[in-house]
Amino acid sequence: MFCHQCGEKVSDQARFCPQCGVPLREGEQETDHHLDSVVSAADEESNSLSKSEQAAKYSKVRRLLPIAIPVASLIIVASSIAGFYGYEQKVNAQVVALQKRRRSLL
Ligand SMILES: [Zn+2]
Repeated sequence: MFCHQCGEKVSDQARFCPQCGVPLREGEQETDHHLDSVVSAADEESNSLSKSEQAAKYSKVRRLLPIAIPVASLIIVASSIAGFYGYEQKVNAQVVALQKRRRSLL
C-alpha cells in the first residue's frame, strides 16, 4: 500500500510510514488512546501504591511515636540533668579554687 500522507510505498504490515511517520492503519489512533489509558491506569496504580507505601510509613511512624516521644523526652531530660550536674561541678570547682586562693592569701 501507499502512504496517504506522502505517497511512499510501505509494507501492508507497517503501522507507521517509514518516510513521514504518519500512522497508516485505521483505528491506530484508537489503539494509541487505549495505550494511553493503559499507561495512565498504570500511573494511577503506581500512585496508589506509593500512597499506600506512604500510609504504611506513616502508620509505622504513628506506631513508633508513643515509644519515640518518651524516649526523646527521656534523652532531653537526661542530657539537661547531665548538663546541670556538669555546670554545678564546674561551679563547685571554681568555688573550691576561690576558697583555696582566699585561704592562701590569708
Ligand atoms: Zn508517509
